[in-house]
Amino acid sequence: MRQVVIVGYPNAGKSTLFNRLLHQKKSLVHSLPGMTRDRVSAPCVLHEKRFELVDTGGFFDSLAEPLSPQVKKMAWEAAKTADVLLLLLDGRRGLAPAETDLYRSLKKLGKPLLVVVNKIDTSAQEAGLGDYYRLGEERLFFISAEHALGLSDLEEAVAAALPAAEPAGAEEPPPLRIAIIGRINVGKSSLVNRLCGEERFIVSELPGTTRDSSDVLIRTDRRSYRLVDTAGIRKLNRVADERESAGVIKAKKNIPLADVLCLVLDAQEFPTHQDAAVAKLAFDSGKPLLIALNKWDLIDENRVSLANAKNLVFQRLEFIDYAPLVTVSALTGKRTMRILDLADKVYQSGLKTVGTPRLNKWLASISAAKALLSKTGKRFKIRYMTQKDVLPPTFVLFTNTQASFAPAYEKYFVKEMRDAFDLRDTPVKLVLKSPSKK
Ligand code: GDP
Repeated sequence: MRQVVIVGYPNAGKSTLFNRLLHQKKSLVHSLPGMTRDRVSAPCVLHEKRFELVDTGGFFDSLAEPLSPQVKKMAWEAAKTADVLLLLLDGRRGLAPAETDLYRSLKKLGKPLLVVVNKIDTSAQEAGLGDYYRLGEERLFFISAEHALGLSDLEEAVAAALPAAEPAGAEEPPPLRIAIIGRINVGKSSLVNRLCGEERFIVSELPGTTRDSSDVLIRTDRRSYRLVDTAGIRKLNRVADERESAGVIKAKKNIPLADVLCLVLDAQEFPTHQDAAVAKLAFDSGKPLLIALNKWDLIDENRVSLANAKNLVFQRLEFIDYAPLVTVSALTGKRTMRILDLADKVYQSGLKTVGTPRLNKWLASISAAKALLSKTGKRFKIRYMTQKDVLPPTFVLFTNTQASFAPAYEKYFVKEMRDAFDLRDTPVKLVLKSPSKK
């Protein structure tokens, strides 16, 4: 997606402008000082142009000090991917030399650059703004992000600076929505922070560490991911000290919002009754699922192997044995990025389709290998089967008589299907249809 990137020194009002352009009243993200993320973004539409608005928040630490090489590098990373740049200046403070430098460097990128002077709350102020014209920019935008003044001109200019239409097929897929679910204290918020690469800003020990934002967008070179409703993870935890089932309540709320679920378990203690309750919700939803066994840094791998851990998990949580499991550490960051890879993988698996001829050929061979058993022990036949849906792959089985599978047989049937059609990482749903109940 096209990107419009807001750049500027602290206190210029970047996050206020960010939220204004998104037409958000409440701050989406920066609720506490020092909590600015390195990079925050959200989808935005202005004058029917769709783009991603990016706030470079914490890139520019201090106006007094020259830009550190690292900060410069990060800023350029963001600026490089931008289609339009907004340089935000503080109209009350006056132009600082560092800002002039920043302006020149940005200009060199040769991209559309809009210079925006913020905090102009009265027209009287504009008289003293001659300084800003010395940058050499033909057009300056004087606004008050706080009081929503001067924004319509800016919005028009942003839209005009964006290319007319996305070239066909270039549109990035929408972010994959991932819900991080699990009981309290397994490390959900630590993982979210780790995935955002901003653990220095948000740590569990900080009093009142809440984020107003509900979703967090993260981007890799491949695509973007939306971690759904992360704010509440922390909020609920505090309440949860007394109410053990908070993790379950939260999962209930978040599962419907997600494309993919990541069940977090604590490697020191798993799976507990609460883990099973959350896992059951994940199973019932039929959504693609992966398991992150967190706090693996505390585990002595000479004593507990990955295979041991998997056995322990799936002995108790057999019903979600299709979910790939990765051992991670939110503390060290080990393998946490694998969560995103696996999220892609399980989502793709959930989209798999199998053609009807293949299915029925397979059905003939499995029916020949083992007679179908119903719950009541009676034999029955499946005359025909076809795939009716994806996410999860759902198969309708037309039987010769009213019957339901014996659980053990259903397990066998599904396992064989998984192997035959490479459906290993996804839930699979079977719907039996008998002639009488059409
Ligand atoms: P949540 O309730 O699931 O969001 O859990 P938190 O993220 O608040 O983590 C609970 C506790 O576990 C905190 O004290 C974290 O510092 C700690 N923790 C989280 N992840 C790890 C990890 O990978 N390794 C270790 N050693 N501790 C962790």
